Amino acid sequence: MKTVNGKTDHVVIVGAGLGGLSAAMRLAGKGRKVTIVERESVPGGRAGRISDNGFEFDTGPTVLTMPDLIEDAFDCLGETMSDWLTLEPVSPLYRAFYQDESTLNIYSDADEMSTEIERVIGSDEALGYRKYVEFVSDLYKYEMRNFIDRNIDSPLSLVSKDLAKLVALGGFRKLAPKVNQYLKDERTQRVFSFQAMYAGLSPYDALAIYAVIAYMDSVAGVYFPKGGMHALPQAMAAALEKHGVTIKYDTEVTRVRRNGNRASGIETSTGEFIAADVVVLNPDLPVAYRDLLGVSKWSVNRLKYSPSCYLLLAGSNATYDHIAHHNIHFGHDWAGVFDELIDQRKIMSDPSLLVTNPSYSDPALAPDGKHVYYVLFPTPNMDADIDWKSFEPKYREQVIQTLEKRGYHGFGDSIELSHITTPLDWQDQGMERGAPFAASHTFLQTGPFRPHNIWGDNVVFTGSGTQPGVGVPMVLVSGRLAAERILGPDSSYHSRALRK
Ligand SMILES: Cc1cc2nc3c(=O)[nH]c(=O)nc-3n(C[C@H](O)[C@H](O)[C@H](O)COP(=O)(O)OP(=O)(O)OC[C@H]3O[C@@H](n4cnc5c(N)ncnc54)[C@H](O)[C@@H]3O)c2cc1C
Repeated sequence: MKTVNGKTDHVVIVGAGLGGLSAAMRLAGKGRKVTIVERESVPGGRAGRISDNGFEFDTGPTVLTMPDLIEDAFDCLGETMSDWLTLEPVSPLYRAFYQDESTLNIYSDADEMSTEIERVIGSDEALGYRKYVEFVSDLYKYEMRNFIDRNIDSPLSLVSKDLAKLVALGGFRKLAPKVNQYLKDERTQRVFSFQAMYAGLSPYDALAIYAVIAYMDSVAGVYFPKGGMHALPQAMAAALEKHGVTIKYDTEVTRVRRNGNRASGIETSTGEFIAADVVVLNPDLPVAYRDLLGVSKWSVNRLKYSPSCYLLLAGSNATYDHIAHHNIHFGHDWAGVFDELIDQRKIMSDPSLLVTNPSYSDPALAPDGKHVYYVLFPTPNMDADIDWKSFEPKYREQVIQTLEKRGYHGFGDSIELSHITTPLDWQDQGMERGAPFAASHTFLQTGPFRPHNIWGDNVVFTGSGTQPGVGVPMVLVSGRLAAERILGPDSSYHSRALRK
């Protein structure tokens, strides 16, 4: 495995996103001096926070899975996660709403889920579900160790018994037909394949190996931190500071100072230079290459990006008793959603959307009797020909009308205050093509084909733009992989989940 050249005593990490924080926990745990330089005044990056008149809004991830990986990061620092962060299981994980007026609760407990499927659809489907769980559990077993939680320098290093097992399982067939092999009802097919969207793909184009994302939430469970998702980066940052890591907030890095392939440190917008033995870059990888390293790479320039999203964060005086913590509202159409978003780069004409109601689980996130609604509509990324400045007010009306038609009566009038993020805003925040879910996980942008996490003598990347990929579990792993490039392979900072 390739590692950095030279001394590794002082590591400067640009960005306190979950990737940067995860890397810092491993490095500080191994006695390295670590300085994190963060543009914003809080940690977390995409897992940020807006506090407004008693409403606490999480600005990015809401579906937290794989807590073992968080525990592992604390463990590497010699800390216990539960001393810093309280995680509660979310049950049901999701409530799915369909246009035929039926609803399906999604549970991680296989017995509870089978009973629910039997109630709503029938016993044959429940049997198919159990077989599907076996399939995704096997995928996880073979993928995690060899393909996700590992630095991969060459495609050849993937050739293993586990690869043969994945091929035999049908992991390299397309996801939708593979799911349909087990599940015959369109409602369960959607619920156990929509996760491909997290990887920026349609289930019709994604490989079946991506069903591993369905394992991570629908089988392994969804959790919610007390205080909201932003409590996670806050806890990680606080533990790091206890262990002597300096986090310089409100400080923008403008450039990595380098001599050829060797970085000597970073420069900030105030003209400060911070010397480093190794520089770790957590900003979106293509942006970091272009703006911080000043390097143009063909393999990075040609990347294709995931769809984006329109996010409405609403502080509301309405309560909706029919919803759960996470709610997926499917439209009539399914294949058409992906065709419009990905192929035609158009706004969905018959939307499928997510509404999260965090104050359902933690009422302290809103003033007494009020609620926080996190409404996410997938949209094309900035490759589409949409002028978000002029389109946003119109789209906001469409979003509210859709919500009102889908059971959120009086939603528009109940909003006391709101915050909107469009693809243009994601781009302004430093996400290439306004794609907060990074480069998509097509086969040729996954594993050894995804941009590598090491450059030159002593520059390392972490975050969703590099291996293994997007989402909270993956970026936590990416922090571990970045640390491994600096410290060398050592099982003591390997994920505990993996050691099981
Ligand atoms: C709306 C939305 C919903 C999502 N939902 C989920 C979900 O439900 N579940 C899930 O698992 N994942 C979800 N994700 C994905 C997940 O949030 C991301 O994959 C992950 O948080 C990315 O972490 P990161 O460390 O790669 O990057 P970031 O969080 O972007 O961190 C990069 C950090 O670098 C800092 N930075 C950038 N440039 C500079 C500079 N020049 N100088 C100093 N600092 C700089 C930034 O301020 C930031 O703090 C969602 C993302 C979004 C946006």
